Amino acid sequence: MSLFSTTYDVIVVGGGHAGSEAAAAAANMGAHTLLITMNLQNIAQMSCNPAMGGIAKGQIIREIDALGGYSGIVTDKTAIQFKMLNKSKGPAMWSPRAQSDRMQFAECWRAMLELTENVDFYQDSVNGLLFDDNKIIGVKTALGLEIKAKTVVITAGTFLNGLIHIGDKSFGGGRAGEGASTGITEDLVAKGFESGRMKTGTPPRVDGRSLDYSKMIEQPGDEVTEKFSYLPTTKALVKQRSCWLTYTNLDVHDLLRTGFDRSPMFNGRIKSTGPRYCPSIEDKIDRFATKDRHQMFIEPEGWTTCEMYVNGFSTSLPEDVQDKAIRSVAGFENVKFLRYGYAIEYDFFPPTQLKHSLETKIIENLFFAGQINGTTGYEEAAAQGLMAGVNAALKTQEKEPFVLKRNEAYIGVLIDDLITKGTEEPYRMFTSRAEYRTLLRQDNADLRLTPIGFKLGLASQERLDRVIEKQEKADLLIHFLQNTSVKQEEINPILEAKNLALINQSMKLYKIAARPQLDFSDFKSVKKLTAFLEENNIDKEAIEQAVIHLKYSGYIEKEKNNADKLNRLENVMIPSSFNYQKVKSLSFEAREKLTKIQPTSISQASRISGVSPSDISVLLVYMGR
Ligand code: FAD
Repeated sequence: MSLFSTTYDVIVVGGGHAGSEAAAAAANMGAHTLLITMNLQNIAQMSCNPAMGGIAKGQIIREIDALGGYSGIVTDKTAIQFKMLNKSKGPAMWSPRAQSDRMQFAECWRAMLELTENVDFYQDSVNGLLFDDNKIIGVKTALGLEIKAKTVVITAGTFLNGLIHIGDKSFGGGRAGEGASTGITEDLVAKGFESGRMKTGTPPRVDGRSLDYSKMIEQPGDEVTEKFSYLPTTKALVKQRSCWLTYTNLDVHDLLRTGFDRSPMFNGRIKSTGPRYCPSIEDKIDRFATKDRHQMFIEPEGWTTCEMYVNGFSTSLPEDVQDKAIRSVAGFENVKFLRYGYAIEYDFFPPTQLKHSLETKIIENLFFAGQINGTTGYEEAAAQGLMAGVNAALKTQEKEPFVLKRNEAYIGVLIDDLITKGTEEPYRMFTSRAEYRTLLRQDNADLRLTPIGFKLGLASQERLDRVIEKQEKADLLIHFLQNTSVKQEEINPILEAKNLALINQSMKLYKIAARPQLDFSDFKSVKKLTAFLEENNIDKEAIEQAVIHLKYSGYIEKEKNNADKLNRLENVMIPSSFNYQKVKSLSFEAREKLTKIQPTSISQASRISGVSPSDISVLLVYMGR
């Protein structure tokens, strides 16, 4: 089939993290999908650090996996180090993080997409969009092709009018060594879209053979590793590569300051907003002038490469200043640079211009996902890509959009925040953004989302079967613990070992195992329990669910009740034709914000900043409540 004569169901523009998930999801939902990207060698390229997951982001990757996306599988297959972060806190805070082999990551993604039915690939740059009035009907490319589609998903990342800065040099580019993308912003602005500029930055990459590790502190991965994908096709890491920790010092700071007058950050050349929580090293020494050192994590970029990523030293200072300053860091005295750090400015589209499905409000059948929506991070991009891919496919099938609620997934929180509140700076996910974090854990993403993914046609039968089995086994174990008593002679040695008060009568296992000071592994000596686990083949995952139920069911129930109450407001819909300007009892600010965002429900209206509880009461009266 020729590109000239085919009308695709879905065209995905850009093969980054968002685009790759979008193409996979749309194709797996049966949509005939074309992935157009500037360079087919760079599919799912990790533009910044070669790591997936981390706090709140790890939960997102598990959610993508539970729904049937690929990011978790690719991360497992290419991981070189694994850590479960926050293990000392409650399970709601546990967050998996893995470092990947950067080159293998891109290769593995491409291989997985090539194995996906319904995906066609084409290397070119999209430089214009084809409209029929307020509907998108295809794209134009730099080579002059016009390719038709029922829906288009734009995932152009940092490439839209991208401008790279190093010291006093600036040049067009979407990422180091790659050209910028022009034409898309201009076509969208002509159609009435609002666009803005953001910036981000990246640290230098150095030759690991030139570093002195004896002056750094080794950072090995976890002794017991886990993984992201719920499928058994991937395995937890056995062999790992270590990272290294070192610090900046006052000499380094002084040397960096010598370049401030040539810094695009300080001399006004970069005007756009960057991620506050991921500051450059020059930003750190400027904002925290009293701190005499900052951490630097030296992370290998793969199994075999000597290239090391200098995490914590993101900079756009001139090359000579980067080079001079870093040599005063312990272990970096003889460093050889492979790539200098740089900053990039790019166009984004304020995400309040989108519906919950990620379809734009202005142009029908056009979807945006990833950094174009003002987010930062591979995980945030991949999650939006999956959702946009699903919704584009659903649109071609004339089905209702797929929306995840805030109590169902971090992905739901992410998208609701973006389209309801917008974002002034690159948005990244934090656990604090989720009001139901006890429900949204990394261990239960499969229980929460795989049945939904299966219904959509995205998650496989195998995934669903595994979820059903996990839930059944966890329930069986909970039932056993609730109904089994153990004599004090068997329990007291366990309590004694932990310096806890002894008991003088038999006790239900459920009660004793719920104590926060005790781990489930402490009960190895309880014969009834070990026999039960063995007989019923209860695995680690089912045990984890049962234990979380024992220890946290009170909090979980409370959050579920709160979510139910709020979801009732989710069902009070606001007609799209509702004229807020006529409701004079709404505050002026509320009228302006509500008119701009056009919330679909009272619940969404209540989350818009500037809309007060009394505005919500007024709206409820208008909606007949
Ligand atoms: P990208 O991964 O950027 O992918 C976009 C894809 O679209 C590319 O393959 C590109 O070739 C293609 N494309 C673009 N325009 C067109 C077009 N017109 N036609 C065809 N193809 C097109 N994230 C963090 O979380 N922390 C950081 O510290 C951080 N630092 C960063 C530093 C730099 C220098 C850069 C470039 C990115 C950084 N990021 C950081 C962001 C992270 O890389 C992105 O959030 C993530 O990659 C976004 O995914 P995406 O799919 O939206 O876009």
